[in-house]
Amino acid sequence: MRKKYDAIIIGAGIIGCCVAFELSKNGYRTLNVDKLPEAGSGSTANSCAVIRLHYSTPDGVAMARESYFYWLNWEKYLGVKDPRGMIRYINHGCLVTKTEKNKQLKNVMASLAELGVAYEELDAAGVRQKFPFLDTRQYGPPKLADDPGFGRPTGDAIAGAVYIPESGYISDPMLSTHNIQVAVEARGGEFIFNAEVADILRKDHRAAGIKLKNGSRIDAPIVVNVAGPHSFIINRLAGVEAGMKIKTRALRQEVAHVPPPPGLDYQAAAPLISDGDTGCYSRPEAGNHVLIGSEDPDCDTLDWVDDPDNFNRNFTEQWRTQVMREAQRITGLPVPNRMQGVVDLYDCTDDWLPIYDRSDLPGFYMAVGTSGNQYKNAPVAGAMMAFLIEQVEAGHNHDQDPLQYPLKYIKRNLNLGTFSRLREINPDSSFSVVG
Ligand SMILES: Cc1cc2nc3c(=O)[nH]c(=O)nc-3n(C[C@H](O)[C@H](O)[C@H](O)COP(=O)(O)OP(=O)(O)OC[C@H]3O[C@@H](n4cnc5c(N)ncnc54)[C@H](O)[C@@H]3O)c2cc1C
Repeated sequence: MRKKYDAIIIGAGIIGCCVAFELSKNGYRTLNVDKLPEAGSGSTANSCAVIRLHYSTPDGVAMARESYFYWLNWEKYLGVKDPRGMIRYINHGCLVTKTEKNKQLKNVMASLAELGVAYEELDAAGVRQKFPFLDTRQYGPPKLADDPGFGRPTGDAIAGAVYIPESGYISDPMLSTHNIQVAVEARGGEFIFNAEVADILRKDHRAAGIKLKNGSRIDAPIVVNVAGPHSFIINRLAGVEAGMKIKTRALRQEVAHVPPPPGLDYQAAAPLISDGDTGCYSRPEAGNHVLIGSEDPDCDTLDWVDDPDNFNRNFTEQWRTQVMREAQRITGLPVPNRMQGVVDLYDCTDDWLPIYDRSDLPGFYMAVGTSGNQYKNAPVAGAMMAFLIEQVEAGHNHDQDPLQYPLKYIKRNLNLGTFSRLREINPDSSFSVVG
């Protein structure tokens, strides 16, 4: 290991590795530092790795659309073959239900149309025709399991749905991170694991490197916070949190894995489902399972976590509630006694949109607050961060004159001010994992 680098990236999750890859492509000598033993062992490991195109704002759709092409061209993009194998993108299509809360998906459809993403508008009968195993009655707004109305329809039919044929998931999020690590190393980038950052070094009023828990110091004029749910801790170490209008904190999540209704080949038949009417999202999971996450409906109390190193990793009644909610939509879905799935943390911002930005400490940058929905955007986030770092280091005042990042596949500029730590809360956000 050298003692001097051009850039140190704190974190070796999917986004930390993409930032390193893009910087190393631009000639930077990078070092990723992670306190866990392997790349992608943080929240990336438990990501549902859903690759979907529907977001509430045109910028959200633009970024997801651009990233989609990176995933489709993954091997070409990385230019390496990982001896452990390469990930696969698995297409299933995505069904999104219309609700009052999501304004019958008017904004979403307008954003999809603006970006030229194909979608089909379906009424309840159209949904049943496409996916006969779905119950299309209305159950929402979502309720707690002990509510007397839980599980009782509130209407004969959902208001309809939008089906987006291009959507799916990545076969193995941790392997995808390793794929990028191999690509970074091929370009001379380095990684250290089991190494915890305990302080940010400063010199001449700018970031100058990191100090590890074991006392060793590593110098670099650029330090990037990509610490996932620990991002607020790193921002506090750097002394930059007070200068942020939008902040981050860790939010606990449970994801259930259950068998499908007996006799149904779920892997073959089912789409991804984003269902504001039941308060869940779901997708087929390997082994003919159904994976069920929460869209954090208003009736639920959000489980904010003060210490991301010490939170409840066991399933709670939330697990059963999520499965019972999904059982309203998937006819005959069993609610097993044995709880399987994952428990992990989102790194959430106040408006559930990420922060990709500089900070008030020159040389210290952040790609944080990914709010449960930025796995899919990691390749573009990496490219945008490399662009932002290069421009800001060259003297551009991004806070006053937000940079425009040219998205190469969809040929559109993305206003990076959208992801500023100084933005006003974006009222167009869904204020949920939908983004
Ligand atoms: C349950 C769940 C489901 C999700 N599903 C989806 C989905 O379907 N689609 C989607 O697009 N997104 C999804 N997401 C979000 C997505 O997974 C994250 O946005 C993404 O993985 C974040 O990557 P990262 O590299 O920023 O962070 P992480 O993967 O969390 O990596 C951060 C790393 O920083 C390290 N670190 C922290 N502090 C220190 C320190 N002091 N010193 C050294 N290292 C440190 C950690 O060990 C960790 O490895 C989901 C997230 C969760 C939790």
